[in-house]
Amino acid sequence: MLFKDLGLSAELLRAIEKQGYDKATPIQEQAIPLVLEGKDVLAGAQTGTGKTAGFTLPVLQRLQNKYSEGDKRHPKVLVLTPTRELAAQVHESVRDYGAYLPFRSAVIFGGVSINPQKQKLIKGVDIVVATPGRLLDHVQQRSIDLSKIEILILDEADRMLDMGFIRDIQKILKVIPRQRQTLLFSATFSREIKTLASEFLQQPSEIQVTPENTAVELVSQIVYPVDKMRKRELLSHKIGEESWQQVLVFTRTKHGANKLAEQLGKDGITAAAIHGNKSQGARTKALANFKAGDVRVLVATDIAARGIDIDKLPHVVNFELPNVPEDYVHRIGRTARAGQQGHAISLVCVDELKLLRDIEKLLGKGIEKINLPGYDVDPSIKAEPIANGRGGGGRNNGGNRGNNSRGRGRAGAGAGNRGNGNGESRARSGGGNQRAR
Ligand code: AMP
Repeated sequence: MLFKDLGLSAELLRAIEKQGYDKATPIQEQAIPLVLEGKDVLAGAQTGTGKTAGFTLPVLQRLQNKYSEGDKRHPKVLVLTPTRELAAQVHESVRDYGAYLPFRSAVIFGGVSINPQKQKLIKGVDIVVATPGRLLDHVQQRSIDLSKIEILILDEADRMLDMGFIRDIQKILKVIPRQRQTLLFSATFSREIKTLASEFLQQPSEIQVTPENTAVELVSQIVYPVDKMRKRELLSHKIGEESWQQVLVFTRTKHGANKLAEQLGKDGITAAAIHGNKSQGARTKALANFKAGDVRVLVATDIAARGIDIDKLPHVVNFELPNVPEDYVHRIGRTARAGQQGHAISLVCVDELKLLRDIEKLLGKGIEKINLPGYDVDPSIKAEPIANGRGGGGRNNGGNRGNNSRGRGRAGAGAGNRGNGNGESRARSGGGNQRAR
């Protein structure tokens, strides 16, 4: 279906055209009319499906229908996201699609000074895109008034729950009006998500983009069995031999990301690492250099990579498989965005065979395995437990958690269940089942 048939204003259509789109994606086709009708929506859509425009466009349209330029400004729309990167990305979409409308927006996340955000809020904004922790700081410091929110969007709600943001979300929901429109987007529908939805949505319309339509189907996936000690060599070899110019590589840990970026540098391949222990400035710079093509390889941990949206990113490499099978889907969803063909490879050592089986189970199919000549697996190497496994070998990066913390000691903030306030909390509700990264 074409955007022009979806009942959007001339201003929005002009902005869409500027982005170079004319046809709506399946999630947009389904979500836009429902949101325009004012319905609550529970949407199952992975990243890469065009979900951001799926809620941003109709929400802007609703604002346009109701408000004119002369209105006193107060936040009317709140988008909550799990990570800073996703918040920044969504905010960029709000600005792009709202380019010809009079609304003002702000993005709010931790890890950067709070004061410029306060200045922005004081001037008055209509739309706020935020991560939960920093938003609550603003609520407590009374630099934001959420009492007139009309539309709430929970983006990547499953990830927010995974990251232990449930209490923060509940607190935020207490200070926004009950009478509102709520949209919940999630890649997966666990019992927890359904509970959240039944608590906070009113008779939601449910929509789902079937996996057949999602980006994942367009990604060619290959597993290269290889010994752990030879992964880096194989990666450098592939990058060189096939002349890959822009590669997003995933590691399980922050330390692993740093080490790999350093080693690739020594191999003469420009690389940067991006993870939660890096300052926001360093993260933004690494991403910008990677997008601009100045850095060939970006090595990322799962959380840092959420929300990274790079046009036509051709290669994603799982240097290590993720501990959680769903993360594999999120990772490879970074390529093959919006219908492009993508390429994902996984370097899998003997320790990771169980993780691979779990991933294949989730996908409902096997992934093609190719043994590369010269990289034969040594059968005498025995599998070792994965140090950072879920609930297994502990959280060896737990000691880093405080690094970015703002040390605010918020009373009753459930700090034990929050992370460092920069969108990298790790504890899962219920505790004892920590996901280390
Ligand atoms: P999302 O799932 O929201 O992260 O979007 C994935 C990518 O698809 C982004 O790069 C969008 O800019 C792009 N996109 C969104 N809508 C469309 C569309 N209708 N046609 C082509 N690309 C789109």
